[in-house]
Amino acid sequence: MSTTPEQVIIVGSGPAGHAAAIYTARANLNPFMFEGYTAGGIPGGQLMTTTEVENYPGFPEGIQGPELMDALRKQSLRFATRIVTEDVVKVDLSKRPFTVASSERTVTTQALIIATGATAKRLNLPSEPTLWNKGISACAVCDGALPIFRGKPLVVVGGGDSAAEESTFLTKFASKVYLVHRRDALRASKIMQERVLKHPKIEVLWHTVVADVLGEGAVSGVRLKEVATGKTRDLACGGLFYAVGFTPNTAIVSGQLDLDQDGYIVTQPGSTTTSVAGVFACGDVQDKRYRQAITAAGSGCMAAMDCERWLAAV
Ligand code: NDP
Repeated sequence: MSTTPEQVIIVGSGPAGHAAAIYTARANLNPFMFEGYTAGGIPGGQLMTTTEVENYPGFPEGIQGPELMDALRKQSLRFATRIVTEDVVKVDLSKRPFTVASSERTVTTQALIIATGATAKRLNLPSEPTLWNKGISACAVCDGALPIFRGKPLVVVGGGDSAAEESTFLTKFASKVYLVHRRDALRASKIMQERVLKHPKIEVLWHTVVADVLGEGAVSGVRLKEVATGKTRDLACGGLFYAVGFTPNTAIVSGQLDLDQDGYIVTQPGSTTTSVAGVFACGDVQDKRYRQAITAAGSGCMAAMDCERWLAAV
């Protein structure tokens, strides 16, 4: 274990982590980043499994998700961020300096920025692996406007606020939106439910689940199953959107930082301060409302500035 503590360790390598790295590096805090790879299979977060990103300001022609993450990573390296591709397996926040351990090393640090993100839940349908990104998406706001979805019937699965918001959003592009929900009532807030139930382009298919996704090379339909009877039928559609919830990647801090009832890190409103002084959280691990690359990057910048001010004061 190194004897001299780091000034700041950043855990996570999505837009939030890299924005935090760029800002802390430029503040001469010599950041050390763990870019984990288990949550998404590769470092870089959720954008690594997205295709075209058309809503990140500054790219009028759009940019591929992995290309954007590569550019952010290069920018962190340009300011001498030290990056290791290792998953953090354990942190000890009970005393300062904090301890951060991967399977390869144990490092201590004065301040810690958690940017481990969230993982969109998938349904693990039989044909999902071959059709992922070919008409299946876990983010309608990110992908809904893509040409492959325009003018086609689209299917959204889920019954929460995400499902309500995403099906309403997709009506701008779809010929029709089917909202498939396993129960007889939505759990979305009343106002969002009303928007869905009154919308002429949305049809809710109650007591129904998606049993599989159909298509050769691109989604052409879904196999629906009635929950009560088990009866199946095929429905033609050009896209399938999952809105079945997210899992915030908070296992390493669980029991050490205040989390809300859904497992997200609680931050002080308007800041990235957590329940432990010197630990800051940014990006989707503390944000279940916006979940956009640009808001994650913005909160990464906030975490770096909160961290810099805190280190200057202790
Ligand atoms: P939720 O956990 O609230 O909802 C997930 C939905 O997916 C539920 O309706 C659930 O069904 C359904 N579901 C889960 N697993 C399956 C499955 N295997 N098969 C079929 N259906 C499944 O997640 P959300 O992402 O909607 O919301 C998470 C949080 O973020 C909430 O607190 C929400 O309020 C908030 N949010 C706020 C927004 C806003 O304010 N603008 C926008 C989006 C989210 P069931 O109901 O039967 O459990």
